[in-house]
Amino acid sequence: MAPLIPVNNKQKTKIIATIGPASSGKEALLDLVRAGVNVFRLNFSHGAHAQHQEVIDRILEINEKYNLHIGILADLQGPKLRVGKIENNALDIEPGDILTFVNQECIGNRDKIYMSYDHFAQDVKPGEKVLVDDGKIVLQVVSTNQKDEVKLKVLFGSVLSSNKGVNLPETVVSQPSLTPKDIEDLEYILTQPVNWIALSFVRQAKDIRDLQKKIAEKNHFAKVIAKIEKPEAINNIKEIIKVSDAIMIARGDLGVEFPIEKLPGIQKMIISRCIQKSKPVIVATQMMESMITNPSPTRAEVTDVANAVLDGTDAVMLSGETSVGNHPSLVVDAMRKIITEAEKHYHMQGKRVQPVPESETFLSDVLCLGAPRIAEEVHAKAILGLTVNGYTAFRMSSYRPKPKIYIFSDKPHMLNTLSLVWGIKCYLYTKFTTTDETFEDLNQILKDEGVVKQGDIVINTGSMPLYKKFRTNMLKITIIE
Ligand code: PEP
Repeated sequence: MAPLIPVNNKQKTKIIATIGPASSGKEALLDLVRAGVNVFRLNFSHGAHAQHQEVIDRILEINEKYNLHIGILADLQGPKLRVGKIENNALDIEPGDILTFVNQECIGNRDKIYMSYDHFAQDVKPGEKVLVDDGKIVLQVVSTNQKDEVKLKVLFGSVLSSNKGVNLPETVVSQPSLTPKDIEDLEYILTQPVNWIALSFVRQAKDIRDLQKKIAEKNHFAKVIAKIEKPEAINNIKEIIKVSDAIMIARGDLGVEFPIEKLPGIQKMIISRCIQKSKPVIVATQMMESMITNPSPTRAEVTDVANAVLDGTDAVMLSGETSVGNHPSLVVDAMRKIITEAEKHYHMQGKRVQPVPESETFLSDVLCLGAPRIAEEVHAKAILGLTVNGYTAFRMSSYRPKPKIYIFSDKPHMLNTLSLVWGIKCYLYTKFTTTDETFEDLNQILKDEGVVKQGDIVINTGSMPLYKKFRTNMLKITIIE
């Protein structure tokens, strides 16, 4: 095996980088890994399957060659609405103009404009707002023929160009959350060792359950991320967090569909709820936007990333900065430095997660949440856990303890999945003999890595008998020999 490349990812808050033309090459991917990326995101709104395949192959090769556990996140486009092509790619508009949206494909002009939503005329009601191009154009529904044509008045905006995104913050959209394109993409994704699948424009818990069902049918291990970007998702947030494996605060579309000034409060609310439910949470979009072109971030961006860390997010995500930006690895480098500095000031806000006596996992939860508490009490250098499906890792991480959590698993894909999770570092461990021997082995691995030294205290957790791979059911305070 090749020697480990120096990887700058000692921080507890993880970095997700979106891959695109600026970063899909092998060297570019390696540069991002060296700079501190933990998870690569493939955005299925762009690119053909063959292109995604090349990137996946390169990531797997890097993991294999350098013994790393970089995760892969596939992001499904979901029911993203767009206007079609516009004549000469620009239609001059002004407040008071009346536009006609139709559901038959055509080249858009002053008479009619195609919108990629078959049931638009049935779902929309007069008076509702329609936002185009991230809210740069504001329209209001005047009338609908309930079939294939909607008339809209321009309230704000000057130029409408081709393929711009459309948001309907006031409309109950009847489109299914998984579009035919998503289903086609999903079929491909489920042939790959992808760790996380994100679903865009989630509205209710059922959207997530439908996707989980499709993943289970293929016997795939991928876990599901709900992208929160619609007001309906905010209304249903409790149920969505309950059924999802993780949450993404997709501030791009959320900032268009929801009053933008509410975003900081929403971010804090979602992060806090996710921590309480032991669900990983990601803060996404425009975190280092100016670095798409500039070599350093703005003061506001530095503060935004730091605040996400101080809110307790598991991961921060880069989009255009790494997919189409001028210097992707410089962005990751800058982000990692901000995280490292912010983490010096991070203390878990509010009440720590508590085991719930009524829960069927109560006994295990007492240990998973007791381990980090005891670790802090005895000033342990490390918390060690074993996992099959990630449960112990998610639980321990949600306590947000001072010492790092070292998770051992015999499932290689699980190590990559957990690369998204706050404070977790993973190792492959396939031996599983006796509990005593396993604990000695794991402690030795950490000693060899320089994580702990003789005399340090660590908290070992596991389950007895080890071979049965029950949920965590025992804990030991160990002084390293
Ligand atoms: C967002 O809207 O913030 C987001 C992450 O989604 P996408 O990049 O898919 O538009």
